[in-house]
Amino acid sequence: MSQQLRQKYLSHIPNVDRILAKPEMVQLENRVPKGIILEAVRRGLDHLRQRIITARNPRDLDESIFSFENLLPHFMEEIENQVNPKLKRVINATGVVIHTNLGRSLLHEGAIEHIAQVSRHYSNLEFDLNQGKRGSRYSHVEEILCRLTGAEAALVVNNNAAAVLLVLNTLADGKEVIVSRGQLVEIGGAFRIPDVMKRSGAILREVGTTNRTHLSDYENAIGEHTALILKVHTSNFRIVGFTADVELRELAELAHSQRLPVMEDLGSGCLIDLSKYGLDWEPTVQEAIKEGVDIVTFSGDKLMGGAQAGIILGRREYIQSIKVNPLNRALRIDKLTLAGLESTLLIYLDEAKAAREIPTLRMLTYSHDELRKRAQGLSRKIRANIPEGVRVGVRDDVSQVGGGAYPIQLLPTYVVTLKPDHGSVHQLEERLREGKPPIIARVSKEEVLLDVRTIGNEEGNLIVDGIEKSIKLGQ
Ligand SMILES: *Cc1c(COP(=O)(O)O)cnc(C)c1O
Repeated sequence: MSQQLRQKYLSHIPNVDRILAKPEMVQLENRVPKGIILEAVRRGLDHLRQRIITARNPRDLDESIFSFENLLPHFMEEIENQVNPKLKRVINATGVVIHTNLGRSLLHEGAIEHIAQVSRHYSNLEFDLNQGKRGSRYSHVEEILCRLTGAEAALVVNNNAAAVLLVLNTLADGKEVIVSRGQLVEIGGAFRIPDVMKRSGAILREVGTTNRTHLSDYENAIGEHTALILKVHTSNFRIVGFTADVELRELAELAHSQRLPVMEDLGSGCLIDLSKYGLDWEPTVQEAIKEGVDIVTFSGDKLMGGAQAGIILGRREYIQSIKVNPLNRALRIDKLTLAGLESTLLIYLDEAKAAREIPTLRMLTYSHDELRKRAQGLSRKIRANIPEGVRVGVRDDVSQVGGGAYPIQLLPTYVVTLKPDHGSVHQLEERLREGKPPIIARVSKEEVLLDVRTIGNEEGNLIVDGIEKSIKLGQ
């Protein structure tokens, strides 16, 4: 009996041409290519077919599933999926400030405007306006980088992974690079020091042990094949307990006494001392230069708070040879990134302004008080707009820096807690994540947590909207 009903329903699935002839569908053709509409209709009807086939009891279905009004939203969703960008803005309610999966750093408004200008118009990207002839794309940021850090010369490439690869290939192809066993790190996304080393043509010469490496270990490893001593910031982990490490200054003295360069991969690369703003102390780029490093590399979109880039600073002779390496052309920075990077660097001329205006730094340095007020404000707004279906609270919690920086530092924060009256917290988390725009939240055992540290001031209404829709779906 139920099988017969299923067959009957299957035979009622409307025909594609009949749907395409509906005025709503014909009108769509003004803005969507016909092939996409056709595909969306086919997919929508396929879903309907599946729904009938998989329904546990076809008696639960009724004829309304065939009505055009009920089918249209499904077709529209399939169409929107095809014509709208897949890469889209989300609301980061995780509290992880430099969230690599959510795009790392946000740019400040000035950088966004600069990118818009440079992309809307022609620019002097590689044109020297004084001489009226070809110029260098690197020249725009070299001076400001040197001014901010005290370096002699600078070069920027696609990202820090590219920077490390390029420096190793330029300075150590076919030769040995000495690295402590405690610094053979893996960064997310398959960046591993030994693998990058191999690809660069350099030969890894490991010294010391996982927890302890001494100056004498480096000293004993130096030989006629040595090209470089490399120090790597152990970004995303810490070795604690019985440990020993060699200071950059000592490494530089040793290297220079043997006429060798020393390089540091700083990873995050902070340009201001964040201990002034309540975070743990981290070596800054300026300090690395002062300690005598010959080459230092770091990311543009981690603690610096700019666009994705790899920044290479150091002694002029080395930077010059890196610039002319043909590999540099393959790793070069594009003009939009360059614009975002330059604007971000210019803000650092005034350190207090940088801490205030660069979103990454601003979010990392919020006061506890400010976070509490924001959490209370958001929870009030949610309660006022959604009187039932969800219990809303505020409590303290901790956020993370992210991006492989400060792996063990926990930042005290406040979260808005959501506990749905119906359904599980995991369902609520999922519905928020599938919303428009998606809201990415944390989940504890009992509650969905919205960490206000990474939520923008102007995102409150979108969050209220997202919660309201998610709760309705659950009822
Ligand atoms: C993040 C990181 C990298 C990779 O930088 P990207 O800009 O992501 O390419 C390399 N080395 C260290 C130590 C890092 O922390």
